[in-house]
Amino acid sequence: MPHNDPAVRLAELRQLMAKYSYEYYVLDEPSVSDAVYDGLMRELKAIEAEHPELITPESPTQRVGGRPLSKFAKVEHSSRMISLNDVFAEEEVAAWVTRTEKLLPGRTLEFFADIKMDGLACALIYEDGQFVQAVTRGDGFVGEDVTLNVRTIANVPLQLRDVKEYENFHRGRTEVRGEIVMYKDDFAALNKQREAEGLPLFANPRNLAAGTIRQLDPKLTAARPLRFRAYDVLRPDRSEVPTNMYAYEALRALGLAANKQATVFTDLKGVMEFVHHWDVARHDLPFNTDGLVVKLNDRKLYDELGTVGKNPRAAVAYKYAAEEGTSIIKDILISIGRTGAAGPVAVFDPVVIAGTTVQHATLHNSDEIARKDIRVGDTAVIYKAGDIIPQVREVLTELRPKDSQPFNMEAELKRQYPELDFERPEGEAIYRVKGATGPLLLKKALEHYASKGALDIDTLGEKNVVTLVDAGLVTDLADIYGLTKEQVLGLDRFAEISAAKLVDAIQAAKQPPLARFIFGLGIRHVGSQTAIDLAKRFESIEALSEATLDDLLEVEGIGTVVAESVVAWFTDEDNIQLLKKFADFGVEPHYEAPKAGVLSGKKFVITGTLHTMSRDIAADKIRALGGTFQSAVGKDTDYLVTGDNVGASKLTKAEKLGVKRLLEADLLKLLDT
Ligand code: NAD
Repeated sequence: MPHNDPAVRLAELRQLMAKYSYEYYVLDEPSVSDAVYDGLMRELKAIEAEHPELITPESPTQRVGGRPLSKFAKVEHSSRMISLNDVFAEEEVAAWVTRTEKLLPGRTLEFFADIKMDGLACALIYEDGQFVQAVTRGDGFVGEDVTLNVRTIANVPLQLRDVKEYENFHRGRTEVRGEIVMYKDDFAALNKQREAEGLPLFANPRNLAAGTIRQLDPKLTAARPLRFRAYDVLRPDRSEVPTNMYAYEALRALGLAANKQATVFTDLKGVMEFVHHWDVARHDLPFNTDGLVVKLNDRKLYDELGTVGKNPRAAVAYKYAAEEGTSIIKDILISIGRTGAAGPVAVFDPVVIAGTTVQHATLHNSDEIARKDIRVGDTAVIYKAGDIIPQVREVLTELRPKDSQPFNMEAELKRQYPELDFERPEGEAIYRVKGATGPLLLKKALEHYASKGALDIDTLGEKNVVTLVDAGLVTDLADIYGLTKEQVLGLDRFAEISAAKLVDAIQAAKQPPLARFIFGLGIRHVGSQTAIDLAKRFESIEALSEATLDDLLEVEGIGTVVAESVVAWFTDEDNIQLLKKFADFGVEPHYEAPKAGVLSGKKFVITGTLHTMSRDIAADKIRALGGTFQSAVGKDTDYLVTGDNVGASKLTKAEKLGVKRLLEADLLKLLDT
């Protein structure tokens, strides 16, 4: 696969993220969502964590925001305006709390939590209580002088309120840091007006607020309803502001807006309750949020812990579940549905979208793939359509591996299904198995499901299968469990006794051994031994259905072809519904670990015709005694059992590898013991 060289991938990610940052911070016109940017940042962080030697000062993990625009005077910040380390899951918040407690042993900690506003960071400078300057965050060290524009924001006091308790803030320099936001209602009203005037609409309140502050005409800023909400106050003597809660109280007393929702907690439980509460309640806030900020309340401890790169150790930003994310497409598998339709599915590294982990997305058909030019190796933007089915919105072509090839549906069908022919009916977007109609495929599938090696329902042979399917009583494998005696009696081939026998036999097959059930599903390339191996490794159909390509490749004897086929089967919508239907009918495959027997750990291959029993029965007997049955001789094979008409190649191979040869009589003796 491409992307093997982390240095190359890092360089590509950094280059693209620099472009996105420029669009976001400097132009106020992002071309991708924050979730996409955050997704790439996650990948970047993961690579840097594994290869710290590749971290450079220019990396977005080390730098804040964007360079200041030259149209404004540049102002150096008294102390760096930082950015926060993002966390996306509760466990990550918990890990941060634990880490912080470890770094400060024996100290009683208080956690200060507030809503994270989605706006533009800005510092307001007051000298002796008078507003003198406003500076954007810029790159954290140097920002832009936007004093004239910020002066027009109605809730920025030009003079701090005179309150006895906080009179020290009126002496010398007081720096207030906060976020400039536009309220959701104001934004909607502005856009409504623009719509009426036939003007293009603004994308979102954050960009509009940022763009408004960073244009040159204060009259224009004054005409747009912006607000400032403070989250920090700095004094030359830092001890004047002992805690973050104190800072908020001081800010409010001095006439600045600071979120009343901010709360202090003494443990993780409280913090998590705050997280859960605001996950829902944030939608009712007047401004947009993208998460929460949690920091140590005690600012001395906060300073003591210091920073890593651009992020303080004593604070985190918890981001709420995003509706989209990014991941690298590892493969495009084709699954064949019940009707013979070939459906392409993208398989990618697991990514959390809207709170659940997803690792595959339907690609619908080859036209859709061509339209979006989706390729294996691409970094894809994945979202959940209607909140349920994961889909690929687009691929980031800038991150495409150099040797990537367009997806070729016909070539892939040939590679993944060499034994089948496909056709694409006139005017249709879907390829189908040639000549196969739904009922024909179903009859074959059902025959296999009921066959000896699978569910072993002997009354459900070929003829009965044909009758049931043709009568429309069975439209998928699970339907057999819903058959009633009355329904079956109405059919040609059945009388009272035979109908009862069939229905009873089916009902008796509701707790099949897991391996037989897996085999019965008819997953391509999954023969009875593979089914046994899968059952042994995953122990339930649920676990198997969630297995990733990598999980499957870890199973001994399973290679890419089988693994791909298993994943494709379990990602097919029809199959997902089918499994649900089995469960609804009370079909419960069960797994029983093989008992250790005299042949425990021994691996057998059988070749040629046996006289006393079929090869399947011999294999069953070997397994019953704890042995394993292999389809081909390998390094780890213990015995090659030879019947009549043995192929020479197997014998030579066995000889070469020093595998012991057994005649049928030897095997019988072994089975007897
Ligand atoms: P951050 O996520 O690191 O958070 C730090 C900032 O949060 C502070 O500087 C402060 O301004 C702000 N903040 C809001 N409410 C706060 C509160 N109550 N207390 C303390 N701080 C508060 O922010 P960042 O460094 O500005 O950048 C990261 C964000 O920008 C991400 O969400 C990222 O997705 C987005 N971004 C998007 C693109 C894009 O192309 N879409 C590009 C670059 C960055």
